[in-house]
Amino acid sequence: MIFKNRLGFEDFLALAVCCLGLTTGGPAARAAAPPEGKSQAPPPAARDRSKLLEGIGAPLQVFLIPEAAGADFSDANCYVVCDRPSGEALIIDAGSRSAPFALRRAADMGLRVVLLVATHFHLDHTGGAPLVLSRTSAKMVAPVKEAGLLAGEVGTPAEKKQVLSVPVPRIDVKAKGSDELKLGAHAVKVIEVPGHSPGGICLHFPAEKVVFTGDVLFKGSIGRTGIPHAAKSADAMVAAVRSKLLVLPDDTAVLPGHGPPTTIGAEKASNPWLQAPAKAEKKAEKGEKKKR
Ligand SMILES: [Zn+2]
Repeated sequence: MIFKNRLGFEDFLALAVCCLGLTTGGPAARAAAPPEGKSQAPPPAARDRSKLLEGIGAPLQVFLIPEAAGADFSDANCYVVCDRPSGEALIIDAGSRSAPFALRRAADMGLRVVLLVATHFHLDHTGGAPLVLSRTSAKMVAPVKEAGLLAGEVGTPAEKKQVLSVPVPRIDVKAKGSDELKLGAHAVKVIEVPGHSPGGICLHFPAEKVVFTGDVLFKGSIGRTGIPHAAKSADAMVAAVRSKLLVLPDDTAVLPGHGPPTTIGAEKASNPWLQAPAKAEKKAEKGEKKKR
């Protein structure tokens, strides 16, 4: 499923970041910085890759933009959350390929991008940050633990060496669990779930019943562990998903960093990684191939 013919080197690199935990810069990162004087407008045939997720997050409007050309599980998901009354937009996980389309979506709706959130520092979720920050006055929001790694404030020398090369020009807000952001009049709660990455964050809109889970929770799966900077096993992350995400109302929409939307209720009922131990063991074997 991963190595389809149409995948190019950048796709492979982005996949490697999530699947192998690489955090170095590369062609995808360099592509994010626009050559001086060149327009960032996407070619006419690919004018709008954003898709409105009908009925999710109302009265906000949520658009999904896959990082690469398709929309399968290998594409990281970028989201644009739009609040028309305040004229504000929030971009979540801008990849190098999705960022131009996210900016266009906000511009087409006449909205100011006020926040750019990276749920975690894997390149397929951050490669477009330089572009967004250079074109807007958005504040860059990042997990506090990973911001510390980027700044070289915490972590082992080996961790610093790898994480420091992620091309994010600045971090304005270091977000930790229980912090609250605002999009217009809408409250956005930060939920910290480390495991797949050192300090990954999810964004929860309680009133609108939607949670953006980054690479922590997917439809039928969870984020990969056992990779560099990740936890060795999934145990602690599964426990955190149970105690921090599965406690949300069942009808809360889950918008993950890869793959299709789901709901808290659906994952509670059928995600093989989140079942009671006896049942989980059997189902998890089946789910192993899907785990990212
Ligand atoms: Zn990831």
